[in-house]
Amino acid sequence: MLIDNPGIREVHMWTDANSLKASFADFDAIAEQCKFHDCKHGSDNGCAVQAAIEDGTLSKERFINYLKLDFELERLSQRKKKHEVTLGRRNRRELKSKGDRYGE
Ligand SMILES: [Zn+2]
Repeated sequence: MLIDNPGIREVHMWTDANSLKASFADFDAIAEQCKFHDCKHGSDNGCAVQAAIEDGTLSKERFINYLKLDFELERLSQRKKKHEVTLGRRNRRELKSKGDRYGE
């Protein structure tokens, strides 16, 4: 079962995520106008996305689809980060750094 190789599956997920992300370019353009850079587009003040939904520029359905996608991307990047941290720890251990006990 070559297709079930986890590495291959991950690459496919990334490709999908990137092309999906590109299809939401218009959403990104609106989101860039949010007052806060880390805006979650919920009830935050100065949210350009909420304003766009209210005046009909953006459909609520599209917004929900975007949130789903965003959640998936976040999960993927968290997993990637975790992987990188693990690699970093291994390297530090090899260097026998005494700063290790202080954690990250
Ligand atoms: Zn926002």
